[in-house]
Amino acid sequence: MESREQYPHDGDVTDNFELAGVPDAFQRLWTPHRLAYIKGGQDQVSSKDNCPFCTAPSHTDEEALIVHRGRHAFVILNLFPYNAGHLLVCPYRHVPDYTDVDAEETAEIAALTQTAMRVLRKVSAPAGFNLGMNQGTAGGAGIAAHLHQHIVPRWSGDGNFLPIIAHTKAITQTLGEVRQMVADAWPASADETSSGGPSAAAGTDEA
Ligand SMILES: [Zn+2]
Repeated sequence: MESREQYPHDGDVTDNFELAGVPDAFQRLWTPHRLAYIKGGQDQVSSKDNCPFCTAPSHTDEEALIVHRGRHAFVILNLFPYNAGHLLVCPYRHVPDYTDVDAEETAEIAALTQTAMRVLRKVSAPAGFNLGMNQGTAGGAGIAAHLHQHIVPRWSGDGNFLPIIAHTKAITQTLGEVRQMVADAWPASADETSSGGPSAAAGTDEA
C-alpha cells in the first residue's frame, strides 16, 4: 500500500488549515514536512480513512511525528504548532467528543498529558502551558471528528510583537528535530500503560 493512499493529499501541503480560534497567518513560513495533516481543514475528514489521527499510527514515528505510543492513546506533534513542542494527545479510536472516551482512555490521556508536560519542562523549560480540547467546529476544533488534547508550551514573550505585527512566527527548530528531542526525553517506564498500542513496525506501507 502506498503511503499516498493513507495521506491522499500528500505533497499538496495546505496553507488553509485552521487552528483553534486563531486565523492562522503563521504557517506561511512553515511547511517543513511533506505530510500535510489534511487539505482544507476538517471538512476533508469524512471517515477514519482520511483522518490524519487514524492514519498516523500506521506510519513510522519519524514520518508521522509521533513522540510516544501508549496502549489507548498516542502523542504526536502538531503539524502547525503555536510554539515549538506543541503536542497533541489522541486516542487511537476515532471518536469526536470527550464524553466518548471510556475510563481507560480517559486515564491514559490524562497520564500522557502529565508526562508530556514533564518531558517538555525537561527539554525546553517552558514558563507555562496551555492545555485543552476544542470540541466541535464551533469550539474551534481543526479536526473535530477525532478527539485530541492540546499541550502548548509557553514562554514569557512568546506573544511578542513579531507574530502580532508581522504575522510571522519564528520557529527555529524543524518538527523532526523537536520530535526527536521529545521522544528521546520520554521516560521508558512512563506512568501510563505503554507500548501496547498499534505500531508501524508491522505495516507494509513504508515509503
Ligand atoms: Zn480519526
